[in-house]
Amino acid sequence: MKDEYDTLLERVYKNIPKHEGSGERFELPDVEVLEQGNKTLVRNFGDLCDVMRREPAVVSKFLSKELAVPSSIDGKRLIFNGKVDSRLLVSKIQDFVGKFVKCKVCNRYDTHISSVDRNTKVLICEACGARAPVRL
Ligand SMILES: [Zn+2]
Repeated sequence: MKDEYDTLLERVYKNIPKHEGSGERFELPDVEVLEQGNKTLVRNFGDLCDVMRREPAVVSKFLSKELAVPSSIDGKRLIFNGKVDSRLLVSKIQDFVGKFVKCKVCNRYDTHISSVDRNTKVLICEACGARAPVRL
């Protein structure tokens, strides 16, 4: 399914000069996944959220929904109440970054999410000032 927002944004931003390869890199730490009985632990979840600069509750909600496994936050750890394939988990975290951290205009990661009102959130880029609606 093609995201309508993406198409719209591509059109809106088509005429803005692109900021190519600033050389700035965004590196997520390796995701430390641990299976414990019927549970799956992400040991460095807090660190991952720090690097992404997103609320752990927001990230865990996204992951639980995507993976269809309930989770709870325990200090710096995230605990899934079920088995989760670690490669799938990593790919979902990358999805989150692509959708909710990376600026679609300049491809940087210096962004934050701001609530316009109860139902509307926007991803704001601190590098280029772009604002994009997000569903989170
Ligand atoms: Zn930007």
